[in-house]
Amino acid sequence: MATYETVIGLEVHAQLKTQSKMFCTCGTVFGLPANTQTCPICLGMPGTLPVVNRDAIEMAIRAGLALHCTINTKNRFARKNYFYPDLPKGYQISQYELPICENGRVEIAAGNGTKTIRIKRAHLEEDAGKNVHQTGTSGSRVDLNRAGTPLLEIVTEPDMRSADEVVAYLKMLRDILVYLDVCDGNMEEGSLRCEPNLSLRTVGAKEFGTKVEMKNINSFKFVKDAIEYEVKRQTKVLNEGGKIYQETRLWDTNKGETAVMRSKEEAHDYRYFPDPDLVPLEISEAWIGELRNRQPKLATEMHKQLTEEYGLTTLSAGVLVADKAAAEYVMAATAWVVQAGLPKVDGAREAANWTMGDLRALLNEKGIGFTENPIKPDQLGAFLVKKYKGEISGPIAKTVLAEMFSTGRSADEIVKAKGLTQVSDEGALKKIIEEAIAKNPQQVAQYKGGKEAVLGFLVGQVMKASGGKANPGKVNELLKGKLTS
Ligand SMILES: [Zn+2]
Repeated sequence: MATYETVIGLEVHAQLKTQSKMFCTCGTVFGLPANTQTCPICLGMPGTLPVVNRDAIEMAIRAGLALHCTINTKNRFARKNYFYPDLPKGYQISQYELPICENGRVEIAAGNGTKTIRIKRAHLEEDAGKNVHQTGTSGSRVDLNRAGTPLLEIVTEPDMRSADEVVAYLKMLRDILVYLDVCDGNMEEGSLRCEPNLSLRTVGAKEFGTKVEMKNINSFKFVKDAIEYEVKRQTKVLNEGGKIYQETRLWDTNKGETAVMRSKEEAHDYRYFPDPDLVPLEISEAWIGELRNRQPKLATEMHKQLTEEYGLTTLSAGVLVADKAAAEYVMAATAWVVQAGLPKVDGAREAANWTMGDLRALLNEKGIGFTENPIKPDQLGAFLVKKYKGEISGPIAKTVLAEMFSTGRSADEIVKAKGLTQVSDEGALKKIIEEAIAKNPQQVAQYKGGKEAVLGFLVGQVMKASGGKANPGKVNELLKGKLTS
């Protein structure tokens, strides 16, 4: 049987984070009651005229720059004609021959190295509405809240060879768009939808096989599952001497298989032509230059900074940059700690550990993200300094952080109000240690007989008796001294 190589290209529709729609002033909030975000323009009423949203253009340019694309200073909108109930005008305004961005690239992790995925083009278009199919006799309804929402469609060359590469590309693309603040990256709400096209060819062959496109997949898991299913399906068809048809298939998450949706249309079926209602778009070099200068740090740069300047491990930095707000939070808290005179690397590691550990657990429990985190970076910084200086012990620190989270009070206030300051005073500690020794003669005898592991138990007894406030390092040291004297 022949061995096949999988060839995959991807189209991604990213919803741009503008306040208003692509060609009218209606809002873009997700989840509002049906048809409450509409006006004569996005409803496609005769006699209305579209006006281009400047923010959408700006976001497309910024995305294009981050994707190393050429920004076409002259580009224009075209009508893509087709009928569907959620498209009231009977055409979608998109870009055809002259897209805003072309010829870019994205670096992804592949195997032990990296791989370049070429971006063919990225163009602006408006989204369609949504058909809501109801069960029973109520039929289907159309919600046009989404109609006219700006999308950036990002198209790659067929450079990917496996589901893992597709997922790596998608994650990288999402990170780039989220860090640029041009898309919220929320796949469940459909802010990022992907359409892989996939074909097989005999290993070594130059010609591509017939490609099949899969529509609107909105999760990393589904895209991986759909691709793996499609590879198996096409392999089986080819091995049995069958033929692959150019078609569009839908991924059925319940059945775990793809099914034919329609035979694939060609570009000429849409009868694209320049939209006569919109003048060609001219973008000045000065504007592009200005946007280039304002580009924020991207996830890969932040990752590099966190490992090289902040001394975090690759793994910690990776976990942090997956959530831009968390990475920025740790950087801000570290800045505060450094200002208080502590070493940057120690401060950053502590900040990262508490942020990814206890703090993330508290946020998860409440079902909120880092942007709604009630502990401000300077508050975490002050808490870390207290911990670093030995004013609060490890176990107490957990309690203090939880209290800061639920009350919004500072570590200082909580420690003072509750008398939680760590006890390092030798006189006070010696008393507790003597009591612990007196209460546990058996363990003391074991330790003296050479069973050193028992020390941990005795330290634990002292910590418990102190209500967690004893300085564990000090207890360890004093206890050892006492037992060997
Ligand atoms: Zn509107």
